[in-house]
Amino acid sequence: MYKCGLIGRSILASRSPWLHEQEGRAQGLDLTYELFDFTDRGWDDDELGPLLRRLAAEGYRGVNVTFPFKQAVIPLLDELDESAAAVGAVNTVQMRGGKLTGYNTDMAGFREGLVAGLPLRKMDRVLLVGAGGAGAAVANALLTLGDGTLGIADRDPGRASALVAQLSQRYGPDRVSAVTDADEALNAADGIVNATPMGMASKPGSPVDTGKLQPRQWVADIVYFPLETELLRGARDLGCPAVDGSGMVIGQAARAFEIFTGHAADIGRMRASFSAKT
Ligand code: NAD
Repeated sequence: MYKCGLIGRSILASRSPWLHEQEGRAQGLDLTYELFDFTDRGWDDDELGPLLRRLAAEGYRGVNVTFPFKQAVIPLLDELDESAAAVGAVNTVQMRGGKLTGYNTDMAGFREGLVAGLPLRKMDRVLLVGAGGAGAAVANALLTLGDGTLGIADRDPGRASALVAQLSQRYGPDRVSAVTDADEALNAADGIVNATPMGMASKPGSPVDTGKLQPRQWVADIVYFPLETELLRGARDLGCPAVDGSGMVIGQAARAFEIFTGHAADIGRMRASFSAKT
């Protein structure tokens, strides 16, 4: 039996249980995926440590971790995988023999979604808007995909410069810089990635002026509710190659499935499961 779950707040609409249980069923695995919604259950944040220990003791194979615990979970773990150390956040915890190991599968999820969706993209200069938790995973993915440069913009300039400082240490100061005006930096970019919540159903709009996009540029948005954001609509109207947020969701889930079960997930089948629920 493979017991897994997701820990976070306001996660009752998550499609993760469906994605993991469908893939488990297709592989003939007895897999359950439970939601531990701290808001719905009325739990305080400091219940996180006891919950992890209880689940490990109950034989859980692992859990995904989301807002607001991706960083708070780190001191509660025994070991960090290289992916989580690079990003500075954990979205997947593996439980084996009482030992907790933290991984970040968002980074590989984004990378795989981008490579599959836009195999011929030019990456000499990429503009990333959004330097939060997801932005850090995306930035690491982009910087490991080639040797081009990355400009990072955020409405909160302190967040952009903090991420730039962290990435400079890992990839070198020549490859990454903070951008103060995203619309101005747009002109020189080969590709643009949105890692802000702008474009979500609850936050309509675009983080850059879509009127300034050029057909030679590619665009990736990681927002997945809805899949067609204002930014992507603007890009596609202009003929820019573009990918939506589904590749990252499916990619991160597929990696987590493998970490939980030891069995590789079938990405195509997971994509079909995701589409069936969209
Ligand atoms: P976060 O709150 O940690 O970071 C968001 C960042 O965007 C913040 O630093 C904020 O200052 C910045 N920001 C907000 N509006 C902006 C604007 N108009 N211009 C510039 N910067 C702006 O959130 P997060 O965890 O990084 O998630 C961001 C979004 O990514 C989520 O809303 C979600 O839709 C998406 N996401 C997708 C996946 C996926 O698998 N596809 C995974 C994680 C997150």
